[in-house]
Amino acid sequence: VSAWANVPQGPPDPILGVTEKFKADPSPNKINLGVGAYRDGKGNPFVLPSVKKAEKQLVRAGANHEYLPITGLASFNKLAAELAYGKDSAPLKEGRLAITQSISGTGALRIAAAFLGRFYPESKTIYVPTPTWGNHIPLAKDSGLEVKHYKYFDKSTVGLDFEGMKADIEAAPEGSIIMLHACAHNPTGVDPTESQWKELSEIIKQKKHFPFFDMAYQGFASGDIVKDAFAVRYFVEQGHQLLLCQSFAKNLGLYGERVGAVSFVCADKEEKARVDSQLKIIIRPMYSNPPIHGARIVSAILGDEKLYNDWLSEVKKMADRIISMREKLYTNLVKLNTPGEWGHIKSQIGMFSFTGLTPEQVDKLAEKASIYMTRDGRISMAALNKKNIDYFAKAVSQAVK
Ligand code: PLP
Repeated sequence: VSAWANVPQGPPDPILGVTEKFKADPSPNKINLGVGAYRDGKGNPFVLPSVKKAEKQLVRAGANHEYLPITGLASFNKLAAELAYGKDSAPLKEGRLAITQSISGTGALRIAAAFLGRFYPESKTIYVPTPTWGNHIPLAKDSGLEVKHYKYFDKSTVGLDFEGMKADIEAAPEGSIIMLHACAHNPTGVDPTESQWKELSEIIKQKKHFPFFDMAYQGFASGDIVKDAFAVRYFVEQGHQLLLCQSFAKNLGLYGERVGAVSFVCADKEEKARVDSQLKIIIRPMYSNPPIHGARIVSAILGDEKLYNDWLSEVKKMADRIISMREKLYTNLVKLNTPGEWGHIKSQIGMFSFTGLTPEQVDKLAEKASIYMTRDGRISMAALNKKNIDYFAKAVSQAVK
């Protein structure tokens, strides 16, 4: 018998499954709203002009392909930390931020979870919002953490269940690990307001919980990198010892380059050195060291005033295009007298919108209009553009009538 005779068939990935069905559909009007990657106004993948310029510079410089150190490119790590925390952030100035390059946001989360599993003394339970990015759960479990949930999304208002969220975080045993989406919550597009973040900070402090931030969309949410980093920076100011996962997939359009970072706010330099040493011990047997190209691009952009400013306006353009699609979709749905309240389409933030469509309506849209999305009704706003938005709005309107 084969060694793998007893390997059971696993279920397909819910998001990649949507793309497969989309590909198989011959309709010229088909739309794939499943993927979380930015598309330009014509529906095409987008390479940022600042990235193109940085790549040209790299080619001209004739860089080699040597290995990076285990924790990655030093200039990248420094600039990534400054982008997230701000140059004047106390842990940076005081040399007590342990940071390592990672294989994009997913790799950052995986290292973070492994580190907590090994060293966080208070708890091995991580609380994630309901719902959360699908990968958070298996990733935490594979790292040896137990996953529990806190309330987040209120179906009836298609908004934040802030009371439920606070109550669940408050009820978690002291010292629990609380995973927070720093901005542009995936999949709902619903974020706490600044004053709600302040309340959350207070509760988490009182309960001595450990805040674990996932920031996959800095700049992409509002178009402003500082505004999107509010929660992280506020928590740091409030003295929380947090950890932060960063991804450069969305805000620099470097999806396939796999460039990210994970950082830990430490008490002092000496503690940072110990954390650094253990990060190396976790990473070395996983993949030895991270890929170099994407980190060089990010470093070239963030480290050059002109390219950095170009990039800021490019992120803003991406965010603004998405926001304009939200406006247009809302207006269309209202004009078509679509039953229901659609204000959430406009108020939600980031790449995704949780439409409130039911699984049956999602199926109907695929069948009748060749429009594909995950069955939770999440759509990638970036997949909408001037050419397809009227068609999409009409189909949605019909599906809910
Ligand atoms: N975290 C969240 C909430 C995400 O939505 C994503 C991507 O969709 C990621 C992390 C990580 O993505 P990547 O590994 O491509 O950086």
